[in-house]
Amino acid sequence: MNRIVLKLGGIMMSLILAVLLPLGFVADKIFTNFYYNQIQEEIRELSKKYANTITSLNDETMINMFKNLAYFTNKEIYITDASGKIIADTGIQVNRLSNNELKQLSEGESIQKNVEDRKTNDHYMGYGHPIMLSNTFQGSFFVLAPVDDAHKPVHKIRDLLILSAVGAFFLGLGFTFFLARKMSNPLLEMERATREIAKGNLDIRVNTLPNDELGSLGAAINDLAVETNQYRSNRSELFANISHELRTPISYLKGYANVLKNNLYETEEERQQYLTIIEDETERILRLINDLFDLSKMEEGQIELQMESVDLVEIMENAVLKVGLELENKGLKLVTEIDRDIPFIKADGNRLEQIIINLLVNAIRYTEKGSIHLKVWSKKHNVYVIIEDTGIGIPEEELPLIFERFHRVEKSRSRDFGGTGLGLAIVKNLVEIQHGTISVSSEMNKGTKFKLSFPKVE
Ligand code: ADP
Repeated sequence: MNRIVLKLGGIMMSLILAVLLPLGFVADKIFTNFYYNQIQEEIRELSKKYANTITSLNDETMINMFKNLAYFTNKEIYITDASGKIIADTGIQVNRLSNNELKQLSEGESIQKNVEDRKTNDHYMGYGHPIMLSNTFQGSFFVLAPVDDAHKPVHKIRDLLILSAVGAFFLGLGFTFFLARKMSNPLLEMERATREIAKGNLDIRVNTLPNDELGSLGAAINDLAVETNQYRSNRSELFANISHELRTPISYLKGYANVLKNNLYETEEERQQYLTIIEDETERILRLINDLFDLSKMEEGQIELQMESVDLVEIMENAVLKVGLELENKGLKLVTEIDRDIPFIKADGNRLEQIIINLLVNAIRYTEKGSIHLKVWSKKHNVYVIIEDTGIGIPEEELPLIFERFHRVEKSRSRDFGGTGLGLAIVKNLVEIQHGTISVSSEMNKGTKFKLSFPKVE
């Protein structure tokens, strides 16, 4: 038996007992009082009736008839005269009427008396009523009845009460433990499942999902298993991607270092070429590591932003200056369309510049001829930026995926341009932690358009 069943069962049983015991006690009291009152009433009525029926205290036959009547109905009687003297009785020995009581009777009062026979432990209840003949007080009629017979039905009822209380107790006990078991089983299953999940067995699921809070808890555990599983496969995918990304440049480094070490080149020009490759690949590894570091900090929410009111236009101008050389090298034109009086936005200036530069570098990287368009305007509560190129474009089905880390449209095309596949993932993260939005639209061989929005400083 598990502890939760015992605890729940214990609580429920205590509650049942807390209700049953006082209820039984009160019921017993009610029944007992009811019976005693009834007997009392009966005796009072009987004594009144006898007192009213008797027509003469001197009529021996009549008195004998009352004695017989008492005998057959298992009662005792006393008849007193007007002075309180007992003139007839059925010979009862116990606890005769006291002088005081006899005096009360002689004064025409009714009396009530409960008697106990100490020897036999029998109980009696009595009632005396004045006898009035032609409106004059003649004496009293006192009837005494044993109440032990009357105890019998009370005892019977008490036995029945106890029996039904015991029955209710055991019924409650059975039901409680059945219920407690039913409640604790899903909990135990959840405990087993979470322990398995903790051990790394992420395919386990909680199967008993009742339609209540326990069910929601079970569903939450299942969600946790699914999430953790996803996290685990994401992580292994990430490690596989990182190893893959590192393997290529490192094998280049190894290969060309080997060529140089063994003097396997013919001209000085060739040697310079190999050294350039080594330099480029080292730079790529460095970039990859920096990007990964940035991204992991962002994903764990550990990046610190210096949010302040910044001039987006000024930041864009700076970014354009920084990519100017690359623009020129490719012979691309830059067309800007920046509205006047663009309001400041709340952002981290350096991170904002990183976003713009990233998007600009991509635009230049994937555009062979034509121009890069920059557009900035403000509307309502936001400032909007568009960075558009006339490059190779992105196929429609790839658009939802390009913000995922290491996602490349064609594996070869980005690498040729020196990309790490992390740029857009970083951009999206940076935009979102600065409360902005980013969206993309593109047409193959026509160009790609990235649209950003940031809330302006109100
Ligand atoms: P990468 O470092 O490989 O450029 P990104 O995350 O910056 O990685 O971009 C993901 C992919 O999206 C790129 O590999 C490229 O295929 C595509 N892409 C990004 N920007 C553009 C663009 N302006 N034009 C065409 N394709 C783009």
